Amino acid sequence: MQGLMQDYPLTTQHILWRMERLYGPKEIVTKTDSGLRRVSYQELTGRIHRLAHALTKLGVKKGDRVATLCWNNYRHLELYYAIPCLGAVLHTLNLRLFPAQLEFTVKDAEDTLIFVDSSLISVLNQVAGKIPSVRQIVVIKDGGQELPEHQLGELLDYETLLQQEPDQFDWPRLDERAAAAMCYTSGTTGNPKGVVYSHRSQFLHAMAVLQADTLALSEQDALLPLVPMFHANSWGLPYAVGLAGAKMIFPDRFAGDSQALIDLADSEGATLLAGVPTIWINFLTQLRKDGRRLNNVRLVLCGGSAVPRALMEGMDAAGLRMIHAWGMTETSPIGSVGVARSWLPREQELEIRLRQGVPVPGVEIRIADLATGLELPWDGQAFGEIQCRGPWIASGYHNNADPTRLTEDGWFRTGDVATIDQDGYISIVDRTKDVIKSGGEWISSVELEGAIMAHPKVLEACVIGVDHPKWQERPVAYVVARPEAKGELTEAEIREFLAGKVADWWLPDEIRFIDEVPKTSTFKFDKKALRADAEPLHESQAAEAPPV
Ligand code: ADP
Repeated sequence: MQGLMQDYPLTTQHILWRMERLYGPKEIVTKTDSGLRRVSYQELTGRIHRLAHALTKLGVKKGDRVATLCWNNYRHLELYYAIPCLGAVLHTLNLRLFPAQLEFTVKDAEDTLIFVDSSLISVLNQVAGKIPSVRQIVVIKDGGQELPEHQLGELLDYETLLQQEPDQFDWPRLDERAAAAMCYTSGTTGNPKGVVYSHRSQFLHAMAVLQADTLALSEQDALLPLVPMFHANSWGLPYAVGLAGAKMIFPDRFAGDSQALIDLADSEGATLLAGVPTIWINFLTQLRKDGRRLNNVRLVLCGGSAVPRALMEGMDAAGLRMIHAWGMTETSPIGSVGVARSWLPREQELEIRLRQGVPVPGVEIRIADLATGLELPWDGQAFGEIQCRGPWIASGYHNNADPTRLTEDGWFRTGDVATIDQDGYISIVDRTKDVIKSGGEWISSVELEGAIMAHPKVLEACVIGVDHPKWQERPVAYVVARPEAKGELTEAEIREFLAGKVADWWLPDEIRFIDEVPKTSTFKFDKKALRADAEPLHESQAAEAPPV
């Protein structure tokens, strides 16, 4: 047929065009060492054009990989746009990788340039002399402070590069299927693997984030993303925000300082917050301590690991409505969101929000039996591996790492174990590698953690399987008491609390008190680190049979 719709490329250039032409006065605010730095969309987009000129002069061509080693700030946002809009590939380096992994990712991606925040020079310095593909390093300074000692050779200065350039760049025509960005998975097993996003996938993912039954992100919103921009596209939010024309609030470096984050959200009128559960656990503790409320916040998006019930209830009580999102680096990352549907009873709303949600428009999901690979029914009982497909789901990895992640019929195997109920709500049982196999039965480490974290004296709980001579594995819980209950909370108290809430044979063989659960680069519980350091079960436990 003739006269079909135009074959208009879905690229990040379109998002940039909207930012420039439609939202000029909107603000991007970054917390810096010398106070808040405010940049309008108009100023920012002008700087993106300058940056494109600078990149071109530095020899960047279509398809070249250009890396960033940066925190959440407006200059990182400039790189998020200038690099792909030029046809090059933005590679966000994970600043918490071990030096050998960092070296691996730069080499595997064949990065040609690296942009680095001055506060992260020492991180990059760990791989000095080991990354031959990198022609040049550009440092982004926050203020006039001295750089630390390094062996990285001559560094170019970001602001000097931009100053010399005009603020109009003629963008090349791009193929929507070309690579726009890449990010490496954290490599829980083996080397990190490169996930490559296309322009089309970034664009469609951003469109999905804006939808009413996803985040309903609009121009009216002010978003504070507490998800690092170096990981999984910062949940795709930098592009979704640009598409919507929303205000963006950046904390720059962030980790445990909840007080500063609350102040920032409050003073800048944040309406939408996004982060992993461990961030919110501390955030909520601080809010309660100070008796503060954040009245402008309409939604707190929580993902990356399961939201413990106690956290969601606590956030509700603090007037903060939290919803669950599920996804992974390979799914751009948003795959499902926990919106409640109109036909479901209102009194079940919390139960529904505690599940991992329903697939967002564009993503198809199924569960497959762990042993046979056959598709399982959506009955809320049968559990199997989540497999998914859609325009922003990975079809493999850079350099064909781990080809086994695709099924024969082209679905992506996520490695997450879940049930799906008849309304399409996903409940994650565990990750295949974290589920505890005890005497041929499965124990969900996630569910046990949630049950323990419901205890009012518990701040964090992380459960791993430890080898058992008879039962193969048995659960061991690592528990962090709330500061006021430290040294006082006992194993017996927790056992008593769990009785009747989980099956007897699920009760952990040991409960070990620690000061802090180790965290991954993205602030999740680091089970790999816990497992590596875990003491074996006490002899008395190891000899005993678990209660049935
Ligand atoms: P990693 O955690 O390995 O650094 P990702 O950020 O890609 O890398 O993590 C994706 C994984 O996080 C998913 O496969 C899943 O196991 C877990 N996850 C993400 N969102 C949720 C959620 N809402 N509930 C439970 N688990 C989640």
